[in-house]
Amino acid sequence: MLRTAAEVRGWRARTGRVGFVPTMGALHEGHEALMRRAAAESDVAAASIFVNPTQFGPQEDFRSYPRAEARDVVLCERAGVAMVFAPSALEMYPDGDATRVQPGPIALPLEGAARPGHFTGVCTVLTKLFAIVRPDAAYFGQKDFQQLRVVQTMNRDLRLGVRIVGCPTVRDPDGLALSSRNGHLTADQRRSALALSRGLFAGRDLWTAGERDPAKLRLAVERIAAGPGVALEYVSVADPYTLEELGGPQGKVLISLAAHVGKTRLIDNVLLGIEVGEVE
Ligand code: AMP
Repeated sequence: MLRTAAEVRGWRARTGRVGFVPTMGALHEGHEALMRRAAAESDVAAASIFVNPTQFGPQEDFRSYPRAEARDVVLCERAGVAMVFAPSALEMYPDGDATRVQPGPIALPLEGAARPGHFTGVCTVLTKLFAIVRPDAAYFGQKDFQQLRVVQTMNRDLRLGVRIVGCPTVRDPDGLALSSRNGHLTADQRRSALALSRGLFAGRDLWTAGERDPAKLRLAVERIAAGPGVALEYVSVADPYTLEELGGPQGKVLISLAAHVGKTRLIDNVLLGIEVGEVE
């Protein structure tokens, strides 16, 4: 495991094509799938573990975000990751640090509206991580679909030249999308949280049966997702490229939602008429 940018740069100079998986740790099979793919498609796979303070709002869970570094390193090795970068906060944000990378309109709706400044923190830390690791490709999960779109757009706008790869969401067998935050759920809350994926799958079923009216799709998801113990924040039926809410039928759709189950905030989504790997 490497702790400083200088160590990573030394490693990078001796390395071939690098596939990179940035994470906040507390790793699970969703992260592992990204790492295995990075390892399969590159000469070497690299991962970072950094709970990035600038992407959390003042009222959010930065302090209570799960941390499990020793276990994470074992998972990385098992997944074929050759280099883990786990910097300190000071290594990423040196004294006096004030520069921020501000994304455009793609970061405004959905999570950007619910979490002001979140994507500025994400873009800032990823720009730093890309500058240190200099990956050829970087792997991101569909689970955070808006993040994927924000990163694709930043990568294009700033001419970073990284191949950004979107990978499908990994779920538990009962449908719950894997998330580091799931560890905070009690058994009861986990049962409640199942309403989220059930709602999204009901929307997908309706779509498969031919329904294209965005209002009807949204309603069908809401009815099921807003189950007992779930405080729904939003259900969105949007264009997967612009993330703008749909006003009428369209052939490619992102249905996404956010909710609180107890104190834990969860997000999930499904793509209809398009696969995550096709979104560029
Ligand atoms: P995080 O550690 O939550 O910042 O996530 C690091 C990367 O793993 C991001 O690209 C996430 O989208 C991805 N990821 C998180 N959960 C999943 C999942 N259940 N399936 C696939 N990718 C995921």
